[in-house]
Amino acid sequence: MRAVVFERYGEPAAVREVADPRPAAHGVVVRVEATGLCRSDWHGWQGHDPGITLPHVPGHELAGVVEAAGEHVTAWRPGDRVTVPFVCACGTCAACAAGDQQVCERQTQPGFTHWGSFAQYVALDHADVNLVAVPGDMSFATAASLGCRFATAFRAVVQQGRVAAGEWVAVHGCGGVGLSAVMIAAAAGARVVAVDVSPAALELARTFGAERCVDAAGTEDTAAAVRELTGGGAHLSLDALGSPATCAASVDGLRRRGRHVQVGLLPSASGTTPVPMARAIALELELLGSHGMAAHTYPPMLELVRSGALRPDLLVTATLPLDAAPAALAALGTAPGAGMTVIEPWS
Ligand SMILES: [Zn+2]
Ligand SMILES: [Zn+2]
Repeated sequence: MRAVVFERYGEPAAVREVADPRPAAHGVVVRVEATGLCRSDWHGWQGHDPGITLPHVPGHELAGVVEAAGEHVTAWRPGDRVTVPFVCACGTCAACAAGDQQVCERQTQPGFTHWGSFAQYVALDHADVNLVAVPGDMSFATAASLGCRFATAFRAVVQQGRVAAGEWVAVHGCGGVGLSAVMIAAAAGARVVAVDVSPAALELARTFGAERCVDAAGTEDTAAAVRELTGGGAHLSLDALGSPATCAASVDGLRRRGRHVQVGLLPSASGTTPVPMARAIALELELLGSHGMAAHTYPPMLELVRSGALRPDLLVTATLPLDAAPAALAALGTAPGAGMTVIEPWS
């Protein structure tokens, strides 16, 4: 099969011919029809993820068709249209037994713990626990966008953030996950303040339901701006970028008893992130993390997509062939762009 391979961190990846994967007894091999390009892939390529071994194939936001299933797989067969959360669970640890597969103790992540989906085929473990059926009327590009950023945003806003209609929700960082969060919060009836340094990203955020926007590039204190626009602070605030500055601004922009959800990754390579804990105690803030979404909690989200209340398809702003993936991966470091890019490995 053809795959995007890198041999060294930070050096150009290349499209190469490599061996086809084979399914584990409990796993499947999926023919990849669409796979999203995410900033986490860029972090992995840069060497920020200690779980990666070289040479490596990135890619973790995928949708496609089951090509082959291992002998212990009971729920899936070749030909099934599927997607998968980027956190693949073991199905048997204490976290999995409690229904919290998104924080599985023995999780695997395609594109990190093993070769990922910037390839024509990808192997996925514990298929009965992790695969999600893609409805026949949903495109693979749309389904691919669900696996990481959209589902992560859904869990952050709805499940962890407990958004309620009429609340103010601040979203710091309007890349793929931030724009998804804007759309999901607005659809839940919340009033959304979008914060970003890019006018293009803020324009998209407005399109997806943000009522107010803060241009972080031209604002000295974004948290103060959020507090002013929301009459005292957001009820719920997300750091959807993942940086010490956006994390602090998200916490500082909350009102009393507000909830901060950390969504953007804070790679360990950049050290420990300071959090304004004095404000957390004085205002009784809740500080929450959000890490993907368990496969079994997808149905309510898929129903909102099916009904048209949520439109992840609108977030996909570019579709590229596999040969364009290495350059697009490198470009994420300097020019992340607005919206999501999807790679189609067979085009
Ligand atoms: Zn587990
Ligand atoms: Zn991702």
